[in-house]
Amino acid sequence: MNDPKIIVALDFPDAGAARAMVARLDPKLCRVKVGKELFTAAGPALVDDLVGRGYGVFLDLKFHDIPNTVASACKAAARMGVWMMNVHASGGRAMLQAARDAMGSSPCKLIAVTVLTSLADADLAEMGIAGGVDAAVLRLAKLAQGAGLDGVVCSAREASALRANCGAPFDLVTPGIRLDDGDAGDQKRVMTPRAAMDAGASYLVIGRPITQAADPVAMLHRIHAEIIA
Ligand code: C5P
Repeated sequence: MNDPKIIVALDFPDAGAARAMVARLDPKLCRVKVGKELFTAAGPALVDDLVGRGYGVFLDLKFHDIPNTVASACKAAARMGVWMMNVHASGGRAMLQAARDAMGSSPCKLIAVTVLTSLADADLAEMGIAGGVDAAVLRLAKLAQGAGLDGVVCSAREASALRANCGAPFDLVTPGIRLDDGDAGDQKRVMTPRAAMDAGASYLVIGRPITQAADPVAMLHRIHAEIIA
């Protein structure tokens, strides 16, 4: 089965810009991620369009609410035919189980966000969460796995520890990917595509290194070749 490992983050302000990019990409080589900005601007119509063009869509809306509300939102998202969606693991076990149950027989993958990478140990302490980021990431990943979710979003830096602790069939979806020669931009802890896959990542979320490249298609081919080598 064709299972592209690269998920291109469509971080665009409107449907027109997103459509112009996907028209140049290839659904056999990548999937695409629609986040809060683009979904709020362009809505389900754009998701339908992307699915219709043959793209696997990761709907990155990070649901976090009471179990009933999250379950209903997940059901609505699954009806759009997306390939993957996510919720916050910190919503707790009942919310995670309700989300998973709401997927029914849908083939859509359901993954969890553990700790946002914008948060450091001091932020967690201020929020009353003791023990630091690394311990919280592992705790929340195990909670998500125990609730029957398919995987988590994590930084590539966390991938090897999570792979060791959560086993093989658990999807690790990692952003913060940069090429050796790339500009890291606002990403602080970065890894190359090859290093992230070697660390145990299942899928790589890559935005600007592809979308802002002079030739996005050539860049997609280059990264694809690097990770299958
Ligand atoms: O352009 P860049 O490759 O940095 O894009 C990465 C994508 O992954 C963005 O959509 C960003 O919001 C998302 N992301 C991230 N770090 C996380 C979670 C998601 O960069 N911890």
